[in-house]
Amino acid sequence: MKLTTDALIIRENNAVGESDRFVTALTRSNGIVQASVRGARNIKNRNGSATQLLCYSRLSLYKGREKYIVDDAEPLQVFFEVRGQLDKLALAQYFCELAGVLAPREEEAETELRLLLNGLHYLSEGTRPLWLIKAVVELRLLCRAGYMPAVEYCAGCGCVDVDGFSPSKGVLLCSRCSQGGDVLPLTPNGLAAFRHIVYAPFEKCFAFSLPEAEGQAFGNVVERFLLTQLNRSFQTLEFYHSLV
Ligand SMILES: [Zn+2]
Repeated sequence: MKLTTDALIIRENNAVGESDRFVTALTRSNGIVQASVRGARNIKNRNGSATQLLCYSRLSLYKGREKYIVDDAEPLQVFFEVRGQLDKLALAQYFCELAGVLAPREEEAETELRLLLNGLHYLSEGTRPLWLIKAVVELRLLCRAGYMPAVEYCAGCGCVDVDGFSPSKGVLLCSRCSQGGDVLPLTPNGLAAFRHIVYAPFEKCFAFSLPEAEGQAFGNVVERFLLTQLNRSFQTLEFYHSLV
């Protein structure tokens, strides 16, 4: 079976064969796909550059019984600005690793793909702080994958006077209900940001701001929520933290 779809290359492995490349792609029509690109490392191969990490490309794929083969790859966008700065590149690689874990397989993944492309766009553009781009990508991917936090009122008593978030339960708590539990403090601005990312229409999800220190603290709450819920670590995230 042959199919054509747009995809972001989220992982590139050149340690196969002499000239082949093995890639993982986040495709619009089929979600996460693993495919081999024959001869991609030959200098004259036209599919080589379009199947590199962080390339957004139109792929023509043959679907075999067990794996996909890239027949043709045409680059649509290459995020050069991201590649040029180590902290941005590290964050972009973390987004790719995260999508590889959270995006669907053999199902359309239009929203996940748009989210990553938007994240890379803002990383390139440099108009949004890194903590903001990171928190939006993390939280929206989590929501899509079924880890939506409850960010309306206190999960213990139902009051709206909340000032903490439990990363293990994924709920808000007020000061009376959070005694002794695993709860991270959340400022009113942090709470507003949380609600914005979870509930805003897609086009607006990156459109908010917080003072830098408050934003960093909010970003840490989102990261703790993600790591606690997924119960694993990410090499790319650890590398990012070693830089910033
Ligand atoms: Zn309460």
